[in-house]
Amino acid sequence: MLIVPEREIADLMTRSAAFDAVEKVFAAMAAGEAVNFPVVREALGHEDALYGFKGGFDRAGMSLGLKAGGYWPRNMERRGLINHQSTVFLFDPDTGQVRAMVGGNLLTALRTAAASSVSIRHLARADAKVIGMIGAGHQAAFQLRAALEQRDFEKVIGWNLHPEMLPGLEKVATEAGLPFEAVALEGLRAADVLITITSSFDAILLEEHVGPGTHIACMGTDTRGKQEVATALVARASLFTDEVAQAVSIGECQHAVAEGRVRESDITQIGAVINATHPGRVSDDEVTLFDGTGVGLQDLAVASAVVDLALARGTAIEVEF
Ligand code: NAD
Repeated sequence: MLIVPEREIADLMTRSAAFDAVEKVFAAMAAGEAVNFPVVREALGHEDALYGFKGGFDRAGMSLGLKAGGYWPRNMERRGLINHQSTVFLFDPDTGQVRAMVGGNLLTALRTAAASSVSIRHLARADAKVIGMIGAGHQAAFQLRAALEQRDFEKVIGWNLHPEMLPGLEKVATEAGLPFEAVALEGLRAADVLITITSSFDAILLEEHVGPGTHIACMGTDTRGKQEVATALVARASLFTDEVAQAVSIGECQHAVAEGRVRESDITQIGAVINATHPGRVSDDEVTLFDGTGVGLQDLAVASAVVDLALARGTAIEVEF
């Protein structure tokens, strides 16, 4: 069995390798070659932790496995460990034998950023110049770095419920040589691309905050009850997602579906756009919305890629098992 420890991931994995892995697995999902297994997510009744598994099988990329992990809210305060903890296990699809164990913490941020980045590449207007961020926590910096590679952006704007966190985004913008402006929600109308990445349970982004032709990547809503975008805005947009079943149950579309404003059949898998079986954006005035719910196959895809990189560099640890 191969082991790629968490401490090695930052040196091995690149944004472009994560992008390629996620784009390929989204394409495989839409082509019917890759499936996600039902998600397990349970409150442990210990340490207030939420724990679960996300798994799947990608016949095209030949990755089989699962990500096990969750959220331990007091890790940082008590032990100096990050609160989200996860590990990916890969199995040999031919034999069922375990192939690799891979640190999943940084990979989760990279695969989540790759998902919105894939949506921007395939759905944002080619002439997008201003990117707007809603949220400025741990994931937001990863999101912004990856998104900036997709278009010739000239400016970053941002809003966060806790404005003291915005300098984290400004730092990413400055590193990319771009100006950053903190704005009120109304100011987000200037954005050609918006990314929402908060842990909100109420709509933040309303219809009047979004201009025509904008692409919105909704990345924060990954659980029943969470919400970042008003249902009227979801209903106005052309809808895309990683997986329709998750979009309607745990993603941003869940509320618009529950209100009867959107039907499951209104939502397209982004893989169909990647595979060119769906045209994606069809006009410059259209608002496109990508509901990025986060699927297990993304985790397997980036973990497989990092195992290949570790083998190529000779840094994978091999153990008899
Ligand atoms: P974080 O705790 O580091 O940051 C949370 C962000 O949400 C901050 O910007 C904070 O100001 C904001 N926020 C907190 N409470 C809010 C509220 N009530 N209203 C509006 N904003 C609020 O978290 P993170 O690691 O950056 O994760 C952000 C979100 O992304 C979480 O909801 C997480 O579950 C989700 N996530 C999604 C995926 C996916 O694949 N879609 C993957 C990883 C994380």
